[in-house]
Amino acid sequence: MLIDTHAHINFDNYNADRGEMLARAKTSGVEKIVCIGMQPDGAREAQALARANPGFVYASVGCHPYDAALLDDACLAEFEDLLRQPEFVLMGEMGIDTVKADVPLDVQERAFARQLELAIKLDKPVCIHSREAFPMVERVLRKVRPQGWKGFAHCFSDGPEEARRWRELGFFISFAGQVTFKNAENLRQAARALKPSDIVVETDCPFLAPMPNRGKRNEPAYARITAEFLAGVMGVPFAEFAQQTTQNARSMLGI
Ligand SMILES: [Zn+2]
Repeated sequence: MLIDTHAHINFDNYNADRGEMLARAKTSGVEKIVCIGMQPDGAREAQALARANPGFVYASVGCHPYDAALLDDACLAEFEDLLRQPEFVLMGEMGIDTVKADVPLDVQERAFARQLELAIKLDKPVCIHSREAFPMVERVLRKVRPQGWKGFAHCFSDGPEEARRWRELGFFISFAGQVTFKNAENLRQAARALKPSDIVVETDCPFLAPMPNRGKRNEPAYARITAEFLAGVMGVPFAEFAQQTTQNARSMLGI
């Protein structure tokens, strides 16, 4: 019914109860999960989870802006090798972070652009991390490819105008649990201006658990809470929201 397009279920946070966590996801209506693999090591963990849960868990590989200084030719060659394997349906997360990344912006920009070029070469959708960096992210995206992108703005955290511009580039918008937070009125305003055909669903777990679990460990089962909340904000029946956003994710990821 729902697809969690961005989950860090390979993290140690789930070592004690990974099987139960995945079972809860199914029970709450999450039919597929994309495990975000950061750097080749994280990607191999994601791949192992995908192999152990065929048709349920899928993998991505990318270089997070926090790690942008690590992206060299050897790393990109490993990404390419992994992305040619069947478990990998997405590239990322990648992008620019002006808040928490301890990496110069020109280094982040270069790592971002090189990954985008690889994604185009391999025809993979991309998952973009943009944290207080939209003008720069948009500039890099337009420079590499003016339009026609396939992918999504992960953990969208801007307003209605930025959402409109993401859509213009071809990206879906993805809200994590913070859209349910009390102080997130700008996100809800952006959501009200969108249609279910503009959106894919994610948790970004173990981070950003939706209300009432804010501050606790997030997990894919909670995608249901955020999705029901968003459908309410947008004034569309949940069944319609779930059906459309899942169709969006399926066509984007080719699954
Ligand atoms: Zn993430």
